[in-house]
Amino acid sequence: MTAPLRLRLDTDALIHNWRLLDAMSGRAACGAAVKANGYGLGARDVVARLAVAGCRDFFVATWDEADALGDLPEGTRLSVLHGVRAQDMPAAARLPHRPVLNSAAQVARWRQRGDQPCDVMIDTGINRLGLSIEEARSGLLDGLVIDTLMSHLACADEPGHPMNERQRRAFAELCACVPARRTSLANSAGILLGRDYAFDLTRPGLGLYGGLPGTGAGELRPVAALEAQVLQVRDVAAGDTVGYGATWVAPAPTRIAIVNLGYGDGFLRALAGVEAHIGGACCPIVGRISMDLLAVDTGIVDVTEGDWLRFDLDLPEIAARSALSQYEMLTGLNDRFERRWC
Ligand SMILES: *Cc1c(COP(=O)(O)O)cnc(C)c1O
Repeated sequence: MTAPLRLRLDTDALIHNWRLLDAMSGRAACGAAVKANGYGLGARDVVARLAVAGCRDFFVATWDEADALGDLPEGTRLSVLHGVRAQDMPAAARLPHRPVLNSAAQVARWRQRGDQPCDVMIDTGINRLGLSIEEARSGLLDGLVIDTLMSHLACADEPGHPMNERQRRAFAELCACVPARRTSLANSAGILLGRDYAFDLTRPGLGLYGGLPGTGAGELRPVAALEAQVLQVRDVAAGDTVGYGATWVAPAPTRIAIVNLGYGDGFLRALAGVEAHIGGACCPIVGRISMDLLAVDTGIVDVTEGDWLRFDLDLPEIAARSALSQYEMLTGLNDRFERRWC
């Protein structure tokens, strides 16, 4: 079977991005967040490639995601960000990975595993997952073998936000009282805030995959481009409409390519402003995006049934032009795409 739509994925760009973020992390080690199937790119393939580049620490959200990764490359480690629910204990006993303990109940649950190492998340202000600073100072963690003590920034993509420094300071103070092998605070955008934010280990996701987590990372390269096949070419007359709701009216006789790509693939209707590339030419999407199809105005370019059109994923540009975040764009790309790495 060959799918009529595919993701072109660039190994060199992925490794370039990791090396850049690793260098920006200074003396801290640089890990990789590969949750949500490696932000839609394919977690197993991302892990294999980054491990070759030297990345040692990986992060997924759930034990299901951990299980789906299978055996990890030699010398690498995996942390499960959502910790351990009661239902996760069998998987946690079977797999060598560490949970990131987020609550007193999770800490109590992990104590049943004796001195198996864990990670611990401290909430320093995002009010999402993690123990409060008071809980962490209360003795609750005494005797646990903590590999990585971490916290997570709420506003890292706004470098001037006062919350960044407040969280950094609160975390640094806590690190002085809770014994752990390593400490970790920064996601991609946190790395850009400077070396003070790197602690011992950084945890980029978006930046690895070609997203721009903020200003000052202009050298990050796109990793994914989308290609979809033309199923039909049709000529419409001036005044004809295209697609559901007849929202697009041809201003002049127009050649339209109907492409095997739609919101059922994760190419959401909010992306109607994204352009297709045929050879060097840019061709706008016209009309509404359907579940499995969209239409592009081929302009003066010669297109025939079976041709492949390329849609570059310029993530900051897409985020600026649509209501989607860079994260939503990537993680929405589903398994209808064949993923091809070069
Ligand atoms: C997703 C996640 C990251 C990676 O964040 P990016 O913004 O994609 O770099 C890091 N740490 C935690 C706890 C996360 O949930």
